[in-house]
Amino acid sequence: MTLRPRPWLDALEPYVPGQTAPLLEGSMASNESPLPVSRALLEAIQGAARTIQRYPDPLADEVRQELARLHGVSPDQILIGNGSDELIYLLGWAYLAGGGSVVCADPAYRMNTVIGTIVNARITQVPLRDWHHDLAAMARIEADIAFVVNPHNPTGTLHSRESLVRFIESSRAKLIVVDEAYIDFCDDPEGTTAISLTGSGRVAVLRTFSKAHGMAGLRIGYLLASPEIIRTLRTIRPPFSVGTLAQAAAVASLRDRTHFTEMRDYVCANRTALSELLAAHGFSVVPSQSNFVLAEVPAADRLIEHLRLSGVAVRPGASLGVPGTVRVSVPSHAGLELIAAALTTWAAQIPATADPA
Ligand SMILES: *Cc1c(COP(=O)(O)O)cnc(C)c1O
Repeated sequence: MTLRPRPWLDALEPYVPGQTAPLLEGSMASNESPLPVSRALLEAIQGAARTIQRYPDPLADEVRQELARLHGVSPDQILIGNGSDELIYLLGWAYLAGGGSVVCADPAYRMNTVIGTIVNARITQVPLRDWHHDLAAMARIEADIAFVVNPHNPTGTLHSRESLVRFIESSRAKLIVVDEAYIDFCDDPEGTTAISLTGSGRVAVLRTFSKAHGMAGLRIGYLLASPEIIRTLRTIRPPFSVGTLAQAAAVASLRDRTHFTEMRDYVCANRTALSELLAAHGFSVVPSQSNFVLAEVPAADRLIEHLRLSGVAVRPGASLGVPGTVRVSVPSHAGLELIAAALTTWAAQIPATADPA
């Protein structure tokens, strides 16, 4: 007898991560923070390292206390996960497995379709409109879970809280999961977040320390939802999925708001510079409220190869469901200089036919 994976898993390909560049500043493929790790964070991790012979706090109480204060919710509305990706899996196992259904955008954030496929749920993908989620069309789809990524990845586009509220009121989905991985980079995070809508049990919000907190390598994220949803997910989660070092770093980062705000402002300023640079080369840039920019480019494959040879790694849009584009993570000042130089040599070598008007 040979054991075969469940047949529906044949639809899945292994994850292909973004490329890295030889220099850290040139790595613009994975939406990581372009800034060095702060001293406060390093010290917190070093301090916590002295206790790693013990299991971590399973529910990360200190992190939850800080987050409860920050967001004005009760700690029993918060669940910590090994990155928000783990929390997406938990939601799928609890609410989609064994005949559930999911609606999300096309292109979607990959984990949303991956979990649907893993648990063999029915997946409906609704094409973007004008680079935004088509919320009106998504609302008409009956589903257990609707995933809305706000701002969206890979486009960087944002829906206002008013349009989200309208969606929630009209949606035929039982639970709306709003993934706010990039919300700190938008113009008005407080006025846009769906956190205040999570009490009822109809809405859940995903957040992560991977992006604005610059901690992608530590793997920690969180879910804000009703106490009932949190209780359910607690019963199925692996109890120690978030390590001691990640918890200590998260607490330190939450207590260092000044540094957090500086990092965010730095990224937002460089986003403007990056968008202007790409536009100056004739590329059509999708206005971004995130820490990356999506640009429509001619000869995408050749451009990506040219950038690679110039020490700049970007994400091919083709690998994210948007062929003919590149997704460029907002870099440091040094990174901006690298990509500016690379685009200058690109402009000098492309034939006139590929030259955009
Ligand atoms: C980067 C990203 C995340 C973060 O995932 P982690 O597992 O927390 O690192 C979540 N959602 C979206 C849409 C992302 O792009």
